[in-house]
Amino acid sequence: MAQTRCRKCLFNQDSGELYQSIQELIASLSPEEKAGEEEYRRRLDVCRECEKLQNGMCLSCGCFVQVRAAKRKERCPWEKW
Ligand code: SF4
Repeated sequence: MAQTRCRKCLFNQDSGELYQSIQELIASLSPEEKAGEEEYRRRLDVCRECEKLQNGMCLSCGCFVQVRAAKRKERCPWEKW
């Protein structure tokens, strides 16, 4: 059966464990390290519209965008956020 993919989604349908690991990593960040919730969502909205996004990963920097966006001091390599 063909795998369902949507570039606008951060992950495809079989990424359950990976998704869980990323959520745990984000939850382990200290409040000082974390971006605010509004900023986090704004960043991910930009990533969702970006041609560099592939299955939750930024093809420019190789990171998972949810993790990068969750860290206050991180920036988009293309300065989109
Ligand atoms: S971090 Fe920047 S370049 Fe990478 S997917 Fe997000 S907006 Fe695109």
